[in-house]
Amino acid sequence: RTHELFLSFEYVKQFEQSDSLLPNTWIVIRIDGRGFTKLCAKYKFEKPNDRRALDLMNAAAKAVMTELPDITIAYGVSDEYSKLITTIASTFTSYYIHFWPTYFPETTLTPPLPSFDGRAVCYPSVQNLRDYMSWRQVDCHINNLYNTTFWSLIQLGGYDAKEAEKFLAGTLSADKNEILFSKFKINYNNEPEIYKKGSIIFREYELVEPGSHNVAETIDHVAEPVKQSKTQDENDKKRRNKARVIIEHLDIIKDDFWDRRPWLLS
Ligand code: ATP
Ligand code: ATP
Ligand code: MG
Ligand code: MG
Ligand code: MG
Ligand code: MG
Ligand code: MG
Repeated sequence: RTHELFLSFEYVKQFEQSDSLLPNTWIVIRIDGRGFTKLCAKYKFEKPNDRRALDLMNAAAKAVMTELPDITIAYGVSDEYSKLITTIASTFTSYYIHFWPTYFPETTLTPPLPSFDGRAVCYPSVQNLRDYMSWRQVDCHINNLYNTTFWSLIQLGGYDAKEAEKFLAGTLSADKNEILFSKFKINYNNEPEIYKKGSIIFREYELVEPGSHNVAETIDHVAEPVKQSKTQDENDKKRRNKARVIIEHLDIIKDDFWDRRPWLLS
């Protein structure tokens, strides 16, 4: 009988079950373009920073945030790890392709089409989560200073890639700032914030004045969520759905960004 046949195969469902993440933690989903080194060459992205490509990434990320209201700045809280990752990575990919013609009107996408991988990591404390975000922003700064200097040597200085790499080997940040300024009259501080700091996408409510005293109380130093009543949860969800999703290029290493937006990490 069909039902017996069904039961004889059903055991395979058990293989699906070991995918829940550590409860009461901040789940960070990091997505990353697959084979984008090739994709950049194929579509002739400007080096080191193609503004259209960054704006396209931001548009896709903003659409994901708008569509999945459980995601805060930290990419969500859920118990289902593979579902969360696949939902985010596939929704992001869909919007990336959807918005492509807006940002690259002269270039038609052809196979292999862009896609993204996703990984989930659990961070048990707010401090871990902030350190994670700080780590990504420091990485952005280091890479951008290097890339800006590297591509200036090539585009403005007539170096080839090998010579530029050799010239920069062993240089510190201060040296790169100095090279940019003395050789090319580029003041790195005046480079666009989006390149230096990356993009932060979050729901904006009313800002809290720095120094106002409920701030410190609102920010919890452990990740454990406060038990809330159902209606409180529903209210929060409604507010989240209504809030504007915005894109900024701010410092997220210092306390100020978080102090002014206590709803992000509490
Ligand atoms: P993998 O599939 O392992 O992630 P990958 O080729 O995507 O391989 P990454 O380490 O993710 O490797 O590097 C992404 C590459 O795409 C880098 O070289 C980066 O400079 C380039 N890139 C991404 N976005 C832009 C952009 N907006 N402008 C210029 N270059 C970009
Ligand atoms: P979740 O996001 O949790 O997966 P869901 O609404 O997608 O929620 P599923 O359990 O995945 O729920 O069920 C998918 C639904 O879509 C089912 O009701 C199924 O009958 C319907 N469905 C999927 N593909 C087709 C199709 N080609 N024709 C008609 N109905 C379909
Ligand atoms: Mg990458
Ligand atoms: Mg990678
Ligand atoms: Mg990549
Ligand atoms: Mg389903
Ligand atoms: Mg489904």
